[in-house]
Amino acid sequence: MSNAVLHVADVHKSFGGLRALSDIDLQVMEGTTHAIIGPNGAGKSTLLNVCIGRIAPDTGAVVFDGQVITGKRPHEINQMGVVRVFQTPEIFPDLTLLQNVMVPAFAKRDGSFRLNALQLTSGQSAIREEAEHWLEDVGLYKQRETLAASLSRGDKRRLELAMGLVQRPRLLLLDEPTAGMSRHDTNATIDLLKKFKERGMTKVIIEHDMHVVFSLADRVTVLAQGRIIADGKPDEVRGNPVVQEAYLGG
Ligand code: ADP
Ligand code: MG
Repeated sequence: MSNAVLHVADVHKSFGGLRALSDIDLQVMEGTTHAIIGPNGAGKSTLLNVCIGRIAPDTGAVVFDGQVITGKRPHEINQMGVVRVFQTPEIFPDLTLLQNVMVPAFAKRDGSFRLNALQLTSGQSAIREEAEHWLEDVGLYKQRETLAASLSRGDKRRLELAMGLVQRPRLLLLDEPTAGMSRHDTNATIDLLKKFKERGMTKVIIEHDMHVVFSLADRVTVLAQGRIIADGKPDEVRGNPVVQEAYLGG
């Protein structure tokens, strides 16, 4: 039996009178890619924010690797190995690609984002080599000394991915990894994420693009109006009339 890396247990969350999440119970199994889909306003981002500690649920709990993480601070949850990328661009435009990846690598090592220019410019270090390794992995090694500001949209996302990977995530959460991308960049991202999947990385992907979902996901959870309306293998979910209605009516 495989084990659950993440268990969202009976989570509820309201904003004023609005029920953003009701009765959410889901498990992300080790080594799987688990997609969360649903129309706009369904509660996907809220759910992700609950998982990373940015939003506290009203009731229920989030269990990561058997430990309750509800109530822990976002940086503590991050230090435990839960890494979120995308949605908000969190790169440093005035630093080189290499420096961008070194920042989270130092933060992971030191448990703090406070670092100085000397650390980022010093010639040889294990951190630098690690950053180079992950830039190579996402296909950006050649551009390592260019400024992040000059990257295309697709390459900025690759950079963010490298910044996530350098933290050696136990669980990677991707919020709409292909939003706003051209078809070409989307396909390149799918290939990259497939490579991580082959390595056995556990991932949660929030995604609108059904092509991406059905190319990558082992399991799909469908949210609508804060509730889980379907959960299963991609093919089961795809043919579900309730899901089709939520999308068409939503
Ligand atoms: P999704 O990511 O699926 O589009 P969200 O999780 O962003 O959905 O939002 C779910 C619902 O909760 C929406 O109706 C949204 O307007 C509302 N909501 C989200 N965050 C807040 C907030 N901080 N305050 C009030 N309402 C919010
Ligand atoms: Mg969202």
